[in-house]
Amino acid sequence: MTARPPATIPVARPWIGQPEADAVSRAVLSGWVTQGPEVAAFEREFAEAVGAPHACAVSNCTTALHLALLAVGVEPGDEVITASHSFIATANAIRHCGAVPVFVDIERATYNLDPTKLAGAVSPRTKAILAVHQIGLPCDLRAILEFARPRGLPVVEDAACAIGSEILWEGKWEKIGRPHGDIACFSFHPRKLVTTGDGGMITTASAAWDKKFRLWRQHGMNVPDTVRHGSKQVVFEDYVEVGYNYRLTDVQAAMGREQLKRLPAMIERRRAQSAHYHQLLAGIPGLDLPREPSWARANWQSYCVRLPGRVKQRAVMQAMLDAGVSTRRGVMCTHREPAYRDTPWACGGGRAACGCAPGVCRQLAESERAQDEAIILPLFHDMAGSDQERVAALLRALLA
Ligand SMILES: *Cc1c(COP(=O)(O)O)cnc(C)c1O
Repeated sequence: MTARPPATIPVARPWIGQPEADAVSRAVLSGWVTQGPEVAAFEREFAEAVGAPHACAVSNCTTALHLALLAVGVEPGDEVITASHSFIATANAIRHCGAVPVFVDIERATYNLDPTKLAGAVSPRTKAILAVHQIGLPCDLRAILEFARPRGLPVVEDAACAIGSEILWEGKWEKIGRPHGDIACFSFHPRKLVTTGDGGMITTASAAWDKKFRLWRQHGMNVPDTVRHGSKQVVFEDYVEVGYNYRLTDVQAAMGREQLKRLPAMIERRRAQSAHYHQLLAGIPGLDLPREPSWARANWQSYCVRLPGRVKQRAVMQAMLDAGVSTRRGVMCTHREPAYRDTPWACGGGRAACGCAPGVCRQLAESERAQDEAIILPLFHDMAGSDQERVAALLRALLA
């Protein structure tokens, strides 16, 4: 008889337990299952957790980004500057407004938008900047805002991965979502820290925009269900704009409230696990480990290392999978996907001017390199230290 091989270590796994199951059960048995009291409570608690004046729950982060871009006035034919090196939903949200994504390259060290590239991407049609806090590491918002403010360009933050991440702001550590730009959008997909299955949140300091989000998420209806339900008078609603159905359910919100309570422990654990990886992986020639700039604290949504240029990313990942360790390649580049072959987009150099071939853009060289060289190692709340040691030993042996 041969020994069973150890179970494959997954790349990620949400931290969910009985409190979430109980909360979901409470919402189900209450008889109010969508956008009711649980959603309202989740919004209050989320706003409190990140220090935002307003938080509006929606169905996911893609719909959050769509509404945020609409709120700042993005219209068909406009351009929005963003990173190609992001999950495709970032650029898709711009397309959902009928606008054109203009991709700028990233910084090698942080995988985040390079503020020095913004000037080359601006045109008379630029309407906004969509900045991403990639895999939970805050981007250089100060530099981006210094560029955007004098030009009157609104800044929307794609904070899908950045719940609990922090940025040093006027001498104080502040949570992403305050927001520091104009609007910030979060995701509760299971690949992020806090999950509701699917779900999203929009934070802003603007009461007017918050009101718009509430209108748009529920078909443009001017009376929320909670108000109609609680009224002793007959209430007739109006549909004042063509809206959307971007509601979060109460079942999801009930789960989200429990998840939010776990957030401080989630981040503490991930910081410790990342420090452990740093130790275990130190000194491997050519292997780049993730670093936080002095002004940023990641929530360590992912632990992303950059392989030495000489090794083949796919071969390393396959060898790790064969040995029972699941990994993912670095963040995708939207401009290389089939969906963007015939979809309008531009790069900082003006797509035609830079002589891009399909899937290859000279203006986005760091983005492409990051996709091809980086791999995401397993990291999740319940991951044992001994499993981290297994992952590190395997990678060390493969790169020897
Ligand atoms: C996950 C993710 C999204 C999309 O979030 P959904 O909630 O799945 O819509 C958008 N942007 C980034 C950077 C993401 O990582």
